[in-house]
Amino acid sequence: MGKVGVALAAGCAAAACVTAAVMVTRRMSRRRGWRRLVRVLEELEEGCATPVGRLRQVVDAMAVEMHAGLASEGGSKLKMLLTYVHNLPTGMEKGIYYALDLGGTNFRVLRVNLGGQRSTILDHDVERQPIPQHLMTSTIEELFDFIATKLKDFVGREENVSGISAEETRELGFTFSFPVKQNSSSSGTLIKWTKGFSIQDMVGRDVSQCLQEAMSRKGLNMQVASLVNDTVGTLALGHYHDQDTVASVIFGTGTNACYLERADAIIKCQGLLSTSGGMVVNMEWGNFWSSHLPRTSYDADLDCESPNPNDQGFEKMISGMYLGDIVRRVVLRMSQESDVFGPVSSKLLVPFILRTPMIATMHEDDSPNLMEVARILRDTLQIPDVPLNVRKLVVKVCDVVTRRAARLAAAGIVGILKKIGRDGNGGTASCKAKGGGQSKMRRTVVAVEGGLYTNYTMFREYLNEAMGEILGEDVAEHVIIRVMDDGSGIGAALLAASHSASLAIDSI
Ligand code: ADP
Ligand code: MG
Repeated sequence: MGKVGVALAAGCAAAACVTAAVMVTRRMSRRRGWRRLVRVLEELEEGCATPVGRLRQVVDAMAVEMHAGLASEGGSKLKMLLTYVHNLPTGMEKGIYYALDLGGTNFRVLRVNLGGQRSTILDHDVERQPIPQHLMTSTIEELFDFIATKLKDFVGREENVSGISAEETRELGFTFSFPVKQNSSSSGTLIKWTKGFSIQDMVGRDVSQCLQEAMSRKGLNMQVASLVNDTVGTLALGHYHDQDTVASVIFGTGTNACYLERADAIIKCQGLLSTSGGMVVNMEWGNFWSSHLPRTSYDADLDCESPNPNDQGFEKMISGMYLGDIVRRVVLRMSQESDVFGPVSSKLLVPFILRTPMIATMHEDDSPNLMEVARILRDTLQIPDVPLNVRKLVVKVCDVVTRRAARLAAAGIVGILKKIGRDGNGGTASCKAKGGGQSKMRRTVVAVEGGLYTNYTMFREYLNEAMGEILGEDVAEHVIIRVMDDGSGIGAALLAASHSASLAIDSI
């Protein structure tokens, strides 16, 4: 071999050494990066842990806060608003009733034709309208005139079908899903706007009156016979179908719950005398807080950066509006701690870019190579070519966040059951079947509505599983969670019907 040959060989050997060294360094750095990812995941799992003992502490805290909220105004983060709804539908309501459902991005107009026996809805018609964005921050007149016009159009089209003449007054149920201080079951004043609505001079105004005035401006002969929120509407529909329904919970963009409280509990706390047969209480449970809730730095950051810090703490851990953003924050941290995702994508810094339906898709991706996860990471977060083992880690993050949400939601529900003595531990007459020597847990139904519960299978399964763990299977088998589609709207029409039925009885 000549000099040139020797030099060439030496050069090749050196290059090979460098390549090998680079490969080893890369492998080591990838391994280090991987270890960091695993550590972030492990910390998340630890921070979100919900062993059954902790869930029981949340149950107790919920029941205690419910007592405190009922006892005095401002006594708890739970507002425990009285609704003045004493009579829930029985299935015997009869006639044609209308409802208006406002409380999110859409509003709906409904008409139901009730059969008068055995919970029969002869037919019902729903029309969904998006609320134009500009109306959410416009004036009272503009918003309510828009609603009244849509209602008038709907009634006009229905006139032939319903057979009600234009002269007859129609009874209307109004579902208004914002915090309201009720004065009666058909009137109340707005406490605060939420969900992006902000209309000047509306806080403190009578909501039914705003609608009533708009309807008369539009020449619409209708009477607001019930004013409720989505939880109360859902409870009403639940009770219409099954009289063992005692509570209802919404798991949608936001979360809230209401339940049927015993008359004596309300009289004791609020000194109300006309509460025969109990009353529905709107908990506004999205604002629940307890030191037993497993809170991570991701939750603290989300809260800090939200327009309503220190507000709606429970909702921020549970509801559809937030779960996607918690996952985004964890993936961002992983991407900052390790180069396994490549350079940090600017998309990861955009709040709410990862929506909850997307984390449901990733979580439930059953394709062999997690192709859906790869697609969402690529298309939404602009992170291409994520290796399979890292995609698996992202699925695990979705699992941890959703599992915590569902298990805390279950603890919240059991908290309500505990407050009303339906958790199997009450030992009082109220929670046991009457008669007979051997006492037995009473059948108890909780009505549920909302896109998070109905569309996200894993959320639903984790919630049901946790109910069994907390209550014990013997008790849990008597607690039925029942989905009430369109409950918030139909329920308001049912309440308008039962309200007019009770007026008819009173006038006899
Ligand atoms: P709203 O809360 O506005 O009344 P819904 O009850 O329909 O409306 O709930 C909508 C919310 O449900 C969405 O904001 C989303 O967070 C959640 N959601 C809808 N579809 C899914 C899905 N496939 N998987 C998980 N969450 C979903
Ligand atoms: Mg809703």
